[in-house]
Amino acid sequence: MISSLRSFLYPSICQSCRQKETRELLLCPTCLEEFSLLNKTFRCKRCFRQEEGLYCSYCEEHPTFFSKRAFCFDAASAALFLLRDLNRFSKTIASLLFIQYSRLEFPPPQAILGSPGFSEVVIEFRKLITIEKEETALQKVLYLSETASLPAVDPFIGKNAFHLALFESY
Ligand SMILES: [Zn+2]
Ligand SMILES: [Zn+2]
Repeated sequence: MISSLRSFLYPSICQSCRQKETRELLLCPTCLEEFSLLNKTFRCKRCFRQEEGLYCSYCEEHPTFFSKRAFCFDAASAALFLLRDLNRFSKTIASLLFIQYSRLEFPPPQAILGSPGFSEVVIEFRKLITIEKEETALQKVLYLSETASLPAVDPFIGKNAFHLALFESY
């Protein structure tokens, strides 16, 4: 009885690769290894492209429509399983985004928006940060979405997971 309850509560197949067995965690040890947030080393301060230097060669030459953006994971990360059940994992995704937001020192926004699928994530994220209230028109908007894939605007960015972008107007 207890063991069947246990296997109900703790699925024995990894939620990411769906191949390997896992005991009490959602992920197998291999997938858990891949579950680490991207860090800013050798990444462009503006677009998060992987390249040495403060800004990448693309940002040095082109204007961008955002002032800063980042991702939590790359497209191959085991963490992408979280997107399969946004109802269940919106809080988790919001926390991951919040860690990236904090460690990459995003300026505090006046509003947070998100892609249609990320509405719950936006609600959870709002609980984690202080929104600057200003009388003036909106100047800083943070946009959260599943991925950033805008080939027309930046051809070098493939699919990435859990994306934050800050838009500023002056
Ligand atoms: Zn796995
Ligand atoms: Zn760049």
